[in-house]
Amino acid sequence: MAGFSPAAAVREDAEEQAYRSLVSSEQISKFHRYLTAEPHPAGSARNNELAQWVAAQWREQGLEDVTIHQYDVLNSTPREVSLEMIAPKKYRAVLREAPYDLDSDTRNPNVSGAYLGYSASGEVTAPVIYAHSGNPEDYAYLRKHGVDVRGKIALVRYSNPYSYRGFKALTAQRLGVAALLIYSDPEEDGYKKGPVFPDGPWGPESHIQRGAITYDFLEPGDPLTPGWASVPGAKRIPPEQAVSLPTIIALPLSWHDAEPLLKNLDGPVAPDEWQGGLPLKYRIGGSRVRVHVKVDMNTSIEPYYVPEARIHGSESPDDWVILGNHRDAWVFGGVDPSSGTAAMLELTRDLGQLLKQGIRPKRTLVICSWDGEEYALTGSTEWGEQYADELKKKTVAYLNVDEATSGKDFQGDAVGSLAPLLVEVSRTLTAPSGRTLYEEWKSSRQNELHQAEQISDSDLPNTKIGSGSDHTVFLNFLGIPTVGLTFVGPYGVYHSMYDDFYWMNHFGDPGYRYHALMSQLWGVMALRLGDADILPFDFASYGASIRRFVMALDSANHLSAKIDLVSLQDRVSAFEAAGRELNESTSRAIASGRLAAAVAEGVNQELMQVERNWCNPDGIPGRPWWKHSLYGARYTYAHLELPGITEAAEAGDWARAAEQARFLESALAHNTDLLNHVRKELDSVADGGSR
Ligand SMILES: [Zn+2]
Repeated sequence: MAGFSPAAAVREDAEEQAYRSLVSSEQISKFHRYLTAEPHPAGSARNNELAQWVAAQWREQGLEDVTIHQYDVLNSTPREVSLEMIAPKKYRAVLREAPYDLDSDTRNPNVSGAYLGYSASGEVTAPVIYAHSGNPEDYAYLRKHGVDVRGKIALVRYSNPYSYRGFKALTAQRLGVAALLIYSDPEEDGYKKGPVFPDGPWGPESHIQRGAITYDFLEPGDPLTPGWASVPGAKRIPPEQAVSLPTIIALPLSWHDAEPLLKNLDGPVAPDEWQGGLPLKYRIGGSRVRVHVKVDMNTSIEPYYVPEARIHGSESPDDWVILGNHRDAWVFGGVDPSSGTAAMLELTRDLGQLLKQGIRPKRTLVICSWDGEEYALTGSTEWGEQYADELKKKTVAYLNVDEATSGKDFQGDAVGSLAPLLVEVSRTLTAPSGRTLYEEWKSSRQNELHQAEQISDSDLPNTKIGSGSDHTVFLNFLGIPTVGLTFVGPYGVYHSMYDDFYWMNHFGDPGYRYHALMSQLWGVMALRLGDADILPFDFASYGASIRRFVMALDSANHLSAKIDLVSLQDRVSAFEAAGRELNESTSRAIASGRLAAAVAEGVNQELMQVERNWCNPDGIPGRPWWKHSLYGARYTYAHLELPGITEAAEAGDWARAAEQARFLESALAHNTDLLNHVRKELDSVADGGSR
């Protein structure tokens, strides 16, 4: 057990076993039913009630210091939304999802219609152009074929390939598109995939993928308080100055509402790759189909609420392990995020039980229920900005769960230093199949990677971490090591009304067994980090990740032909070697039985700083909020390693690339010195030195 002496490992094992045995899928199902009973988007009365309810649960469960933080942020809800085809024939879009008798929740009158958070308000009548996925290469194709999209309405698909809808909005906005319609093609998440709701997990004809189109890849959080917390009374910038606010009108459509438009489009036939799952020839369009779109959004400052609870550490109360999940959902949030919230409430219930038996971790656990994740990662970002200095001093790691489960396949994200811990913990858990989580993970990952040869343990965790959930402020703004956990499966109802209790009980996780496994995994990760004698960071593993990042960047951009990469590669090797030596010294010091608590605490404080040191106070060029030099996110939300160097290289700006590489070299040198320094301290313990 990495970071534990043999005696401490025995105690830890007993404690984890006690914890695991408390986890009840029945309890989780009850939490889940309550959370999914009503729609609860950010800013709604129901979501605010749920904040009170979560805090009340935590008090009852025996958690400590339960408080609710308030942030006053710009919210965005629809006042009036309509879409009408006026030529060649009339069609008024429904913009609503159809109810099914099998699932009474689908008749709830509080379910919203179609809208996209932070869409601009306005009204336009214009011809429709089909622009495939709405990515830059799609518009390049149109331009090449003489199609001018300026002033037109672009109709695009959600994912072929996937890109974050906010990226599609910014792309369209920059090209002068008058309004953007994003629809769910059955090829991506509907009947072409398999049986649709309520007979199967895929999206039915009228399902609508709501979502926000915020440009939070530029700057997440409340658009009006970039970089600082929107506590009540905080200063705000005017909306016109907010870089993350779109100026384009945008609307999501079901394929039910998109089909009449697609059917009537004229112009050239779209390329083969642009053809979708509907039984029609997809055409580019010209001037035949004219549509009137009206979107009137109510943007006002609303309170968002972040409940927080703690379990004070018995020995190092000022070292924090933070756990978080968002509470707000576009509608019922069966998977996203109430599966995560239910798993979290079970985790806290069980830790509360242990507390009553006098068992508490050495370090403090901080647990948060984020708000407004769906809008702009808002609650976590504001909280992270508010407590930035304290968090940088005290935080060991952040463990995020957004969607706990939409199926059986485990996906674990971790920064390189925590990847081995995740693998180690997966060996101690039993999946519903009776196999270990480790074995299940290995077979699903093997399938996912399509590799002929047997994958190794280091291939299991995904160490390429993008954005799109609440880990972002911790990793990218604060330099805190993060882990993200989820089980996935066939899931075609994302952000629609059908992502609900019925869906979860029939398709996602009948019996709540994977929810229970998530509570166990998340809790054991927290306990392991909360109890270890020496924090179980593996910097040799981190070094290997960084080496792979540099190699991938070099092969994609022929970087070494343009800038001198030798010294960067040398620094990575030195860091990796220092990590290997530190692993050995840590084992020896722990095995010696001479590791005093005060020495361990000093060592841990230093190890916690390694992640912080990857941060460049200036941020990535052009995106100053994003401080991390190893991890960033593309505008599509996709992972982006070595963001400063990569973006410079992709822009052909070799001077900037070299400058960014120099920053990373100095961070690597600094962290190598730090690891070597820690190793010497541990060696003197192992050798029976004076300390
Ligand atoms: Zn979510």
